[in-house]
Amino acid sequence: MFGVTQTTSTARPLAVFDLDGTLAETGHRQHFLERQPRDWKGFFAALHRDPPLAQGVRLVLEAAADCEVVYLTGRPERCRRDTLAWLARHGLPEGRLCMRADSDRRPARTIKLEAVRGLDRRGEVRMVVDDDELVCDAVERAGFRVVRARWASTSQPGSTVLRIAQEREGRT
Ligand SMILES: [Mg+2]
Repeated sequence: MFGVTQTTSTARPLAVFDLDGTLAETGHRQHFLERQPRDWKGFFAALHRDPPLAQGVRLVLEAAADCEVVYLTGRPERCRRDTLAWLARHGLPEGRLCMRADSDRRPARTIKLEAVRGLDRRGEVRMVVDDDELVCDAVERAGFRVVRARWASTSQPGSTVLRIAQEREGRT
């Protein structure tokens, strides 16, 4: 289950944004996952150095004009403090931050769809922005409007390490 904090009640629709590969460029820390065994600690410890992705940032700022922004990430809860600091440092809109429970290893598409459905029970989810095609497919199939983020280096064909991590290993 995703932990949901910073609960606010509002009539505004929700715009749900992924972080890695959507708002944050993670290419510089992929090498931690290309090792065997994968270095998850190193991978997450370096997230404070992620450059923001301009196209994603533009979209979230636009969305914040009409919507309440919710950040929905496969990053584990233990990264909450660093993630909040990163969002603030780059001037991203305030919003709830929904993260993977530290012990939850289910595929991102499963837990994110569950989280989107949960959010939708509390307020209309107007859009979901994510770079993971499997997440996008699952959320779209459930009837939500999806924007497929394809602007990160990790979204390019051939960048498979993070996909394996998300899908088979349930780690991010
Ligand atoms: Mg992503």
